[in-house]
Amino acid sequence: VTGAMTPDPAVNTHCPYCSLQCGMALRPAPGEGRAEVVEVVERTAFPVNRGALCGKGRTAPAVLSSQVRLTEPLVRRPDTGRLEPATWEEALDRVAEALTGTAQAHGQDAVGVFGGGGLTNEKAYALGKFARVVLGTSQIDYNGRFCMSSAAAAHNKAFGLDRGLPFPLADVARTGCVILVGSNLAETMPPALRYLTELKESGGKLIVIDPRRTRTAEQADLHLAPRPGTDLALALGLLHLVVAEGRVDEEFIARRTNGWPEARAAAMAHWPEMVERITGVPVPELREAMRMFCDAETSMVLTARGPEQQSKGTDTVGAWINLCLATGRAGRPLSGYGCLTGQGNGQGGREHGQKADQLPGYRKLDDPAARAHVAGVWGVDPDTLPGPGRSAYELLDALGGDVRALLLMGSNPVVSAPRAAHIEARLRSLDFMAVADVVLSETAALADVVLPVTQWAEETGTTTNLEGRVILRRTAVTPPPGVRSDLEVLHGLAARLGWEKGFPTDPEEVFDELRRASAGGAADYSGITYRRITEEDGVFWPCPEEPHPGTPRLFLDRFATDDGRARFVPVSHRPAAEEPDAEYPLFLTTGRVLSQYQSGAQTRRVEELNRAAPGPFVQLHPQLAERLGAAEGDPLAVVSRRGRAVAPARISRDIRPDTVFMPFHWAGEGRANALTNPALDPVSRMPEFKVCAVRVERMERA
Ligand code: SF4
Repeated sequence: VTGAMTPDPAVNTHCPYCSLQCGMALRPAPGEGRAEVVEVVERTAFPVNRGALCGKGRTAPAVLSSQVRLTEPLVRRPDTGRLEPATWEEALDRVAEALTGTAQAHGQDAVGVFGGGGLTNEKAYALGKFARVVLGTSQIDYNGRFCMSSAAAAHNKAFGLDRGLPFPLADVARTGCVILVGSNLAETMPPALRYLTELKESGGKLIVIDPRRTRTAEQADLHLAPRPGTDLALALGLLHLVVAEGRVDEEFIARRTNGWPEARAAAMAHWPEMVERITGVPVPELREAMRMFCDAETSMVLTARGPEQQSKGTDTVGAWINLCLATGRAGRPLSGYGCLTGQGNGQGGREHGQKADQLPGYRKLDDPAARAHVAGVWGVDPDTLPGPGRSAYELLDALGGDVRALLLMGSNPVVSAPRAAHIEARLRSLDFMAVADVVLSETAALADVVLPVTQWAEETGTTTNLEGRVILRRTAVTPPPGVRSDLEVLHGLAARLGWEKGFPTDPEEVFDELRRASAGGAADYSGITYRRITEEDGVFWPCPEEPHPGTPRLFLDRFATDDGRARFVPVSHRPAAEEPDAEYPLFLTTGRVLSQYQSGAQTRRVEELNRAAPGPFVQLHPQLAERLGAAEGDPLAVVSRRGRAVAPARISRDIRPDTVFMPFHWAGEGRANALTNPALDPVSRMPEFKVCAVRVERMERA
């Protein structure tokens, strides 16, 4: 039971889950007899999803009234070793004392902060400020590092600015050809599939690149199924063919780019036959893809986690951007490169300062002018701000070493981090951990203090969807009495640590400060207000002043580099950090399924979703199943150098015979991330979630 509805008959808001941030409205559920139970109603006016929702969004209110949600703080008692109910005063006192004590004993960098890509812009901003101003620690990063960092790094290199999609999603339906690389949006964000359907209905072509024949790949005019970890070579092969067949847009290159000769030379070193050997994709299919892409008057490349979650993710995305630039498919209407961000606020979460190397407004933490500007807004001396810290995996790996205490918000790394059993051990080795969450996630269960916080429909705040559209979630339900918002948590902790001011609990007040902090930065929110978002159904950044209309389409006149020209980045193929060998002869790749979301902390608590997707599985090709002597449903042990996971076999011709797939939403023995490889991209520090080497063993049925 969550509390009473506000008086509004229906409140416009947005789904709490993925980066599509579908619009919806909430109203009291009829016939329930309980005003606190709400139902979702369509909100067709919101342009991104036009009323469509997937099952996750439709059932999201179930978590509001879930019997397992947290409604009182928990503190681990030294005598019993168990988490037991406590007052908010006691819980916050305990957190403040532990963080202060750790900093005094071991230095400020001994306190870590870990955030999340689902936090609203206001929370992400406040968390970054809290870490740097109150705690004085450099050790802050967030789980969005695992989501979009490679695409962000490549975007910045090539275009001088990172916004997932530099155009509205609606443009996807109106272009001539889309290459979709490593995205299964039919399951991860189903309402977005309609843009691809409309594309095809208007005569456009869809090329899907994925080692699996997913529900998305089924829609494609052409599906290429490369070996996992070879997307970079595939992009280079296409660019080689573009040059070989005279499809280069020399005029565009001369007018709007730098660095083509080096990128061209790198691509020409990757012969199509060589690319076929590396990727397993036959040359005729490569040629067909290249021609489809170039024959269309306008075309796009969209990437997602497949090519990005690799130890060469930045270079891989760079190779796809090079393809767009060489063919003049960037900085033009209905053409370009874009990244389909994953988490609900995957875009905004990376703009406001919870990333290890960034300050609000997408400013660099090591830029003296950026430090001076943000310090001015915060009312502190820029010299007191710490420098850049460790990336997400490196921070988690340092827990229990020189980082002794952790404050964690909106993340569940026991399930979602690579090499998860090792990370779980690091979390257990901490002197102290406080977790703010809505349920007792697997990570919260390890904490010394658990702080129960409000959920999406119980609070107001902005997120920034995958298009760079800043939207507003509104309070529709009064939260239960025992919970507080994350902003209230940070306010309470800051006050205990000597900061009576500077951490308001009103989201709009925080947003107004965020606007000032972002002013003049790459992600400039200065002209965006709650009023405008409400009236305009979202405003695209950059929006440097209130009369400014916002910027749905970037780069049409100039790129965001110093000279306004896009930069080719020469890249070359290299293998995955871990390739199959005699001991571990198969590829493992991981991903999501339709009815669960990320670490499953919320969606695993929804009965309808659990019925649809009750647990993990191992997808494998019939040839492999036959070699193993495995039948459908047989328990299989998947073993990598880092761990082991057990799940039933799901036999399908939709996967390569050399590859197995596991969804990563579950903990326990089916935890896919127990297997994954934390090899990091040297630029983005993205772990290589999407490919590692495993062996599979058939187990006896119980
Ligand atoms: Fe929309 Fe994503 Fe929510 Fe589904 S999970 S309703 S696609 S925002």
